[in-house]
Amino acid sequence: LAGGLTPASAENSRALYRDASAPVPQRVDDLMSRMSVEDKLGQMVQIERDAAGPADVADHRIGSVLSGGGSTPTPNTPEAWADMYDRYQRAALDTPLGIPVLYGVDAVHGHNNVRTATIFPHNIGLGATRNPWLVRRVGAATAEEVAATGIDWTFSPCLCVARNDRWGRTYESFGEAPWLASTMSEEITGYQGHRLGDDPTSIMATAKHYVGDGGTTGGVDQGDTRLSERELRRIHLEPFRAAIERDVASVMVSYSSWNGTPLHAHRYLIRDVLKRELGFDGVVLSDYDAIHQLDGDDSTLTASEVRRSINSGLDMIMLSTDHERFLHLLRQEVSAGTIPMSRIDDAVRRVLTKKFEMGLFERPFAQRDLLSTVGSDEHRALARQAVRESQTLLENDGVLPLSPEEDKVFVAGSNADDIGNQSGGWTISWQGSSGAITEGTTILEGIRQVSDAPVTYDREGDGIDSSYDAAIAVVGEKPYAEYRGDSPEGVRLSRQDLDTIAKLRESGVPVAVVLVSGRPVEVTEHVDDWNALLASWLPGTQGGGVADVLFGEYDPTGKLPVTWMRSYEQQPINVGDRKDPLYPFGYGLSYRN
Ligand code: BGC
Repeated sequence: LAGGLTPASAENSRALYRDASAPVPQRVDDLMSRMSVEDKLGQMVQIERDAAGPADVADHRIGSVLSGGGSTPTPNTPEAWADMYDRYQRAALDTPLGIPVLYGVDAVHGHNNVRTATIFPHNIGLGATRNPWLVRRVGAATAEEVAATGIDWTFSPCLCVARNDRWGRTYESFGEAPWLASTMSEEITGYQGHRLGDDPTSIMATAKHYVGDGGTTGGVDQGDTRLSERELRRIHLEPFRAAIERDVASVMVSYSSWNGTPLHAHRYLIRDVLKRELGFDGVVLSDYDAIHQLDGDDSTLTASEVRRSINSGLDMIMLSTDHERFLHLLRQEVSAGTIPMSRIDDAVRRVLTKKFEMGLFERPFAQRDLLSTVGSDEHRALARQAVRESQTLLENDGVLPLSPEEDKVFVAGSNADDIGNQSGGWTISWQGSSGAITEGTTILEGIRQVSDAPVTYDREGDGIDSSYDAAIAVVGEKPYAEYRGDSPEGVRLSRQDLDTIAKLRESGVPVAVVLVSGRPVEVTEHVDDWNALLASWLPGTQGGGVADVLFGEYDPTGKLPVTWMRSYEQQPINVGDRKDPLYPFGYGLSYRN
């Protein structure tokens, strides 16, 4: 059979829906006319790979599989990912209708579940570059690495507009200004290409989380966004409009509520605003087990949770487990007429349309000829450029740039030589972790590569003396993701980091502080003692880009994507506020001023 397909039924192999030259709407109609209700309901499920093997996916005609945040971080190599993907795909194809599965992952800063992949800066750093063309190239490079392993779909970009830096997902935001998130949604064009499925490296993008996730009271993750409709639209809806203009394939709904109503049951915002008013014709995906929260107790899924979410306009439900219960409840509601068949057909049509547009029926398996792009020199060079452009210089009394030929440099700090810390959350595992979790260049290694003079390193700053020309302290946050990063008290440097900096200062050598963090850190009471302050954000695996800026190989151009408060008491503090910040939105020095 053509394309290596193995549909069980000979009749289906000659069907119109299999004809690649037929228009997609006709292929969808033809396929849907052959589907049972069970076939259709299965397409509305996205199940965590830990909870369903290939046979299970085939048996229940499941539409999509994911390796989500909560899944165990195996397999590890790109080849093993491709093998796993192909196993699911083969099982799905080996059913009577042979409908391929869509496999989704959170490739939010590169193909970040996969060891050896290129890890780009998190969105907060990309926001500092103000460079949508660069971000589009980052998206395209990520898509190549993702497609190489077979994966069809990334749950990115996060178009959240972070309005309170206490929020643990601030680093997933391009910044606090709606226009910035809108501009940077150009990453979608990178992921998908000019038209979805036009070439084998095209993957589906997801605009998330719809809508208002970054505007919750107190910056609480999954919290309540209390805003007038006018403000909700002005601040949080705008980037979704931009994403839809770029033909984003899917939209993920937010765990949060708007004025007390959960988004997953918000018929007005999903059906009336997103689908009708904005004309979104792609797939509306739930967040992970989010519908379980609708009736208050988030353990056992109820019929009313299924009914409310589907009737509100959700097309596919992301589940960590128990797809059988979900399908059973969905079947019951459909039989009872409480979920109209027209709603099911709308959902399934959207899912199948994307599968056809992606070319999945013709090109179902991993693009193994692309495996050499995973972590390639070319992608790492692009990541290094992205790191350079994201560096935001906040203070400098002239100590920077350092001279690679002449300056004898001492490096210290908890984030100087740690690829895990500089990559942050969503790296190899959901929460990320410290240590040598994947391949790349730490900031220290980058400094060693760029400097011609000998570089001394001690994590705690021990052993420094006045014989050095400069000290670099690389300090800041440690990895976290989602609510685990929520910080009601704000974000401060650890005692250990402060002690390290103090030790460096006691030597009398000028100290440049490099801050690795996903959001502003309270530095007001210390910064006057430092000779330079560089916000590095969460640069990812190519620490050389930080070194390039420190040594003047690249003149810093980064601009703050968020207002930098004096103290967390000022939060929420945003562009245009009359509060007195330490550094305003858009601030950033170069070596020429
Ligand atoms: C997050 C989403 C993510 C999903 C799948 C959820 O917990 O909120 O951003 O895409 O998990 O991992």
